[in-house]
Amino acid sequence: MEEWRSILRTVKIHILTTGGTIEKVYSEQSGTVLNVAARINRYVELLRLPDMRIEVTPLMNKDSLEMTTEDRGEQLLDAVRERIADSPVVITHGTDTMVETGKLLKARLSGLEHPVILTGAMTPLGFERSDGLQNLTESLFAARVLAPGLWIVFHNQVFDVDHVRKERELARFVAVE
Ligand code: GLU
Repeated sequence: MEEWRSILRTVKIHILTTGGTIEKVYSEQSGTVLNVAARINRYVELLRLPDMRIEVTPLMNKDSLEMTTEDRGEQLLDAVRERIADSPVVITHGTDTMVETGKLLKARLSGLEHPVILTGAMTPLGFERSDGLQNLTESLFAARVLAPGLWIVFHNQVFDVDHVRKERELARFVAVE
């Protein structure tokens, strides 16, 4: 019963954005997709979330392969620490090192009272057949029902960060022992 109460009341959720494919845009100059600016807020505003209070904080705009130890272990970790006592945290992140970041956060955060959810996309927001808005929306719902801990929410699935890997050929995450 206790967990269902969190579905019924107004919920505050923090979103921290870090870049990754979900936020990439097409560059006509280079002919590639690049992380240029935070874009999550525009898409959150498209959703109908009548009982949610969402605070979006853009932290960095990086392909996750370019994230440094300081990015993960200081900037992102500190940002989660500052918010997690208050509410669940959803982190948008590149998929290539999402598991690495999840494991680092899990190792450094103790006594969590809310879930921390990592999500992203295989195709950028705004592109045809993008999975970005689906993953974002499902993560916001998952944030209000999952137990405290570190999770990856992707393609309507929930993964424990200690038991998941990216399957590049299939463009998805898969559970591992
Ligand atoms: N290498 C990029 C990253 O990890 C693209 C992968 C993705 O976000 O899906 O940010």
